[in-house]
Amino acid sequence: MFFSRSTIFASALLTLATPTLANDVNVYSYRQAELVKPLFDAFTAQSGIKVNVQFLKKGLVEKLVAEGNRSPADVILTVDISRLNSVVEAGVTQPVVSEVLKNNIPAEFRDPENQWFALTTRARIAYASKERVLDGEVTTYEDFADPKWKNRICTRSGTNAYNLALTSAVIANHGEDVAKSWLLGVKSNLARKPQGNDRAQVKAIYAGECDISIGNTYYMAKMLANPEQIEWANSVRIVFPKFSNGGTHMNVSGVAMTKAAPNKDNALKLIEWLSGDTAQKIYAEANGEYPVNPNLTPSELVASWGTFTPDDTPLIDIAKLRPASLKLTEIVAFDE
Ligand code: FE
Repeated sequence: MFFSRSTIFASALLTLATPTLANDVNVYSYRQAELVKPLFDAFTAQSGIKVNVQFLKKGLVEKLVAEGNRSPADVILTVDISRLNSVVEAGVTQPVVSEVLKNNIPAEFRDPENQWFALTTRARIAYASKERVLDGEVTTYEDFADPKWKNRICTRSGTNAYNLALTSAVIANHGEDVAKSWLLGVKSNLARKPQGNDRAQVKAIYAGECDISIGNTYYMAKMLANPEQIEWANSVRIVFPKFSNGGTHMNVSGVAMTKAAPNKDNALKLIEWLSGDTAQKIYAEANGEYPVNPNLTPSELVASWGTFTPDDTPLIDIAKLRPASLKLTEIVAFDE
């Protein structure tokens, strides 16, 4: 049999190109490479499906809207319920109906319309100086506004997604008027203008600039794993504040399937896999988050911080209150 060189070349190209495209899934991620790479490596090893990731710092919704039905993205990954909800509200997701997801993710952690699914949870807590804050001195979110903390609190910007979600929870529990007084109270207790990220506040406690800060739980695990930050971590202990009439504020990271998903079957496989044992264990062990799947337990370290009752405000209410909490945060000029 005879093949010309050009025939062989062309068919080689075809066999290289076709199966690769058919067995890919494309992800737009607000979550960082250091976290998602071990997850996707494990998924590819188990499924044979290659994951292409585009990491974004902002503009995910605008990008999906602009790309429309030509978007290569199948799946989006992000933190924060409001960001998940904003992708849904922009109309660029599609519902995913899956028994696997129903079994793996409790109802309060997935959209009733199946547009988004939480994969991990985290509590927004107080980091308290071991030296300067006694056990039991801060037990509620309302305490943050108590004048006894004057010049003793550090936080990142009030308009940061995590802080807006917390303020939304204050509104959900107490109404807008109380939330406004609360914001003013916290603002008047700040040791410095809001700045930096959650870890920078713990560094400030270590440096003696403030005594308590507001942050997410998993940053403790990250600081303990970082030789430059371990001293910051060791200068504080974790306190799970609760609302005076409720529990501890939780936020989530989550996933959605895009409306235009060109690789829908693979996207479904990836989303289901992320809610399963292997992925949930990676989230728990490598990132210090609470697995959303009740079959899994938090890491030993995370469990050692203690247990708490989550605030029962539905996540979707937290997302819907975002405009109200942003408005209040601007009215009180929280960051100024
Ligand atoms: Fe974070």
